Parts: sequence; C-alpha cells; structure tokens
Amino acid sequence: MGRIIFFDGAQAIGGTKIFLETSYKKFFFDFGLNYKQRGMYYEEFLNPRVANGIGDLYSLGLVPLIKGLYRKDLVEMLNKNGSADLGDGSEELSVDAVFLSHAHFDHSAYISFLREELPIYTSSTTIAILKAMEESGNPTFENKMFEFKRRGVPSSKNEEKGTHIFNAIENTEVIGNTYVLGFPVDHSVRGALGFVVESSEGSVVYTGDLRLHGKRSEETINFVEEARKRKPDVLVIEGTNLRQDSEVKEFWTEQQVFDEAYKIFKKTQKLIITDFSIRDTDRLLTFLALSKVTGRKFVISLKDAYLLDKMKESVMDTPGLDDPNIFFYLEKHESGTYDEADYKRKWMKELLARIPKNKLLKAEDIRANEGEFAITLRFFDLQELIDLRPSKGSSYIHSSSEAHSEEQKIDERRMDNWLQKFNLYPRFHVHASGHAKKEDLFKIVDEINPKVIVPVHTEHPEIYLEQFGKRVKIVKNLDKIEF
Ligand SMILES: [Zn+2]
Ligand SMILES: [Zn+2]
Repeated sequence: MGRIIFFDGAQAIGGTKIFLETSYKKFFFDFGLNYKQRGMYYEEFLNPRVANGIGDLYSLGLVPLIKGLYRKDLVEMLNKNGSADLGDGSEELSVDAVFLSHAHFDHSAYISFLREELPIYTSSTTIAILKAMEESGNPTFENKMFEFKRRGVPSSKNEEKGTHIFNAIENTEVIGNTYVLGFPVDHSVRGALGFVVESSEGSVVYTGDLRLHGKRSEETINFVEEARKRKPDVLVIEGTNLRQDSEVKEFWTEQQVFDEAYKIFKKTQKLIITDFSIRDTDRLLTFLALSKVTGRKFVISLKDAYLLDKMKESVMDTPGLDDPNIFFYLEKHESGTYDEADYKRKWMKELLARIPKNKLLKAEDIRANEGEFAITLRFFDLQELIDLRPSKGSSYIHSSSEAHSEEQKIDERRMDNWLQKFNLYPRFHVHASGHAKKEDLFKIVDEINPKVIVPVHTEHPEIYLEQFGKRVKIVKNLDKIEF
C-alpha cells in the first residue's frame, strides 16, 4: 500500500508540500512557502526572527511537524529553546528525496530549512533560476537554499556555510523500487516539471503548476500523454484558476498578450515601460519581440540580464547579452555617481565586465531619446521614474496577475499614485495566466483518466467534484490518501 499525505497547500494557492510513501521510499513533492497562511501573522516589517531559527515558524504552524526532516542546526536550536517536538537533531533522515516542480517560492522556498544531505531533484533550468535569483537578489532566511548560515552557532565562530544538494533530473530518477519521471510542462517560469511516480503499489501523477494556452503547450500535451499511458491510480492536479462563475475573468493567451501590447507599442510616441514577473522569461521574450517589430530598444535591469545569462545554458531560445535589441539599465548606487566601485557585488562585477559600455544606459540616456525605448521596471523600481521623468504620451504596461490580497491591492493603489505623478496613468493591463483555465483542466483530467482525482493548489476544489463526481477526493491539510 502506498500513501500520500497533504501536509500543506491542499486548499490554498501555494505552500505545496506533498508527501508520498511507497513500501520502500518516502518523498516530498515541493516544499513551498504558504504566502496566505504566513500573511495571517506577518507583513513587510513583521517577520519571523532569524535569531530563533525555525522556532517562530514552527510555533505558528507554518512548517509541518516531521522529525528527521529539518536542518540539524535548526532542530538543535529549537530543542535548546525548550521544544523537543522535532527531536534533538540526531534523528535519521525521514525522507529519501524531494522532487521540486518549479522555481516559484510557493513551491520551493522552504527547501531552505531541510536537511542538507537530503537530495533535491528538479530540472537544470530550475536550479539555474533559483541560483541566479539567490545570487543577484536579497535572499532571506526563508528562501536561501544554496548558501546559508547555520543558526544557533555564535557569530564569531560561524564561518562554514551550508548548502543543499540539487540534482538535475532530466527524465527518470530511480530510487529504490520507485521510478519518478519528470516531464517538462508549460508554466509562467521555464523549467517547470510535472511528475509521474511508478511503484509496485501503483502510479501517481502530480501536475505541479501548468497551462495549455502558453507558448509551449506541446510540453504540457506531452506530459499529459505520458501520464495517460501509465493509467494512474491517483492524479494530484492544480486548480488555481477554478472560480465560481461570477468571479471568472477574461482569459488571454500569450499570443493575445502580444497582439494587445502591439497596439500599445504602435500608438505610444514616448517611453514604454513594461512590468512583468522577473521569472516569466516568456513574457520577456514577448516584449523583446514587440520591441524588435516596432523598432525600439528593449532595456532590462542587470538582474534580468544575470538571470537570462544563467538560463542560457539549459534553455536554448534564451537571448544572449549580445542580442542587438537588448540594452541594460544602470541604476545609481551608493555614491550616486555611477562610479565603478559602487557596483561591487560579485554578480554585478562579473556581468558588467561582459556588457559592452555602449549598451549600458543611464536614466539620462533614456530621457534624452525616450521614444526609442521600452524599459522594464517593476513595483520596487518605481523610484527610477524620478530620474526617467517620462513625458506625456508615455505608456505603462502592467503584465502580471491582478491584485488578489488586501496587501496587493494597497500596493496597486501605490503604483497608481506613482503613475499619476509621472504621466503614466491609466496603466494598461495585458496578461496571460501561468495556470490552465477550467476547460483545459477538465480536458487534462479526461485525457489522463485516473481512478482518483485529488485537487490541490486551489481555493475551489468543489468545482472538480461537480464535474467528475465520486472520483474526486477533496483533501484538507494533513489528510491522507491510500493507493
Ligand atoms: Zn504555485
Ligand atoms: Zn507556479
């Protein structure tokens, strides 16, 4: 008998932590951060105390109670602080491997707390993305996976850093008597995988996050076909876009994003600003292509450039730093003088050494010829508007999902205040979801034709129940399914 326990993310969008056990082996599929649950306690300036290791998160129920799973330093610290719930750190590893579907933090971030010797399997592209984001970003205790400080060690003696073992799974990984096959699927980040598990107990399919209306729908179609061939006992499927009818919004494909944005590019005389998720390199390619056909120079941040450069090894169609239409925005740092010494982080130095000087643009370069450019700015880059000073006739294209939570809505109002101040209001909204729409999800289930359907990553699992009846098992966190 095999079993699956849904530790988190059953009836929430993200925070996915799915435990699967066969007679011989135990795995986790994803180990993400549950933003909604975390947001019940924390906000921007109220965060878990790093100095308490995993203690704060554990006390609030934001990480599950499992012995032999978390880093020894974190468990020892909790133990010293009076809780033996997670043991004392000397426990044997209780899980054999973690399979990570993709590089979004709601699936990956809490890998940072797992035991260092626990192997993580995912695509080489996901590894490249997570690593590049960690090197070029400002990672926190809650999402630092590659190089972390051990906790509970006096700072003066804490020199050696820990890291996790990431292994690239390109197709099959055999562990014990259990085969885990990862297949590329189309999602709003490259490198996403869907999984098929085959064991003597039966077969289980986990979709991760996926869609059929993106640029690479053939990947999702191939995964569905491979899944169908295994005649699975259980299909664990996402349902992000399931909503009761009154909430259903217009649904765009990536091609429609291109077509709608094309009209905006065509009619804009002055500066164009594009705002999309940094990991969504499909969207970057869409805006790059639009810039090419409308004769604009496409300007990206150094962070975007670093990510593209690191992805290039595993993703063939990634544009290189030498792409003639790509230019790079040089923000002012520290001294405000663009002095070389201001760009001292290792990744920046490496990158700047490889970018030709004439492709590095300061705010004044863009301001002088604003009609020639389409530049990428995000919410946290809005201050750059003060230097860019776009004139009337400029456009702001917001190209990520609309605000859901109260906090996101407050941020959106802030964004609009900036845009009003700088001739960019009202903004345009063009976006294609990273997740399949209802009809496509139903098509995927029909094709795969499993015995049991388990919805996850959704707030409306009952919509699967209405469609597929008794075959659907609605689970809550900590529920178990046997196969
Ligand atoms: Zn997700
Ligand atoms: Zn995702």
